[in-house]
Amino acid sequence: MSRLAENIDRVKARIAAVARAPVTLVAVSKTRSAEEIRAACELGLHHFGENYVREATAKIPTLADLEICWHFIGQLQSNKTREVATYFDWVQTLDRLKIAERLSDQRPQHLPPLQVCIQVNIDDEASKAGVAPAETAALVAAVTLLPRLQVRGLMAIPAPHRDPASQGQACLRMAALFAEIRKQHSDLDTLSLGMSADLEAAVTAGSTMVRIGTDIFGPRN
Ligand SMILES: *Cc1c(COP(=O)(O)O)cnc(C)c1O
Repeated sequence: MSRLAENIDRVKARIAAVARAPVTLVAVSKTRSAEEIRAACELGLHHFGENYVREATAKIPTLADLEICWHFIGQLQSNKTREVATYFDWVQTLDRLKIAERLSDQRPQHLPPLQVCIQVNIDDEASKAGVAPAETAALVAAVTLLPRLQVRGLMAIPAPHRDPASQGQACLRMAALFAEIRKQHSDLDTLSLGMSADLEAAVTAGSTMVRIGTDIFGPRN
């Protein structure tokens, strides 16, 4: 078995060990070649996450023969919204109404609505994007009204904690916020939480979608 196949099996086993409901595995393929993505797709992965617009728009057309759902997970600037609205199926890093309006206006008519998650700055980090937890409900409500976007849920990148207990706390706060928002928006079905280092904490807390790069493809340069 190839290294890649082993890695994918190991990640799936880690998810299965703690999951109580189905979890979507998004393979984070930033800095990875189209050939590596193709190999991962042939091993059964169909969701891929990309951070950089120029890199992604070069790779995506070369993989058009494959069944891939593309997730934009990078910081989104307003001068890149048209490309993101054209090339991607999901945007997970939405944290401003302005950007949401541009994406909705620019989503091509022949494509289904762009699936979006609102990014939450759950640990209130100055360095991180995302809306404050207290402002999340208002942004969800506003984005829900845009015709060419479909709000699917929330996404977060909790700060790395050294001990598993504190890592679990951040994930539980995120899960509680998701539950709170769902009281008004019961159709939301996605809590995108968990990367290579905090996969178990996230899935234990109730994540429905993990974004894994390093533990699938190996360390990035
Ligand atoms: C790079 C990245 C990941 C994957 O991180 P790993 O630690 O390599 O698994 C997940 N989510 C986002 C938003 C990222 O930028």
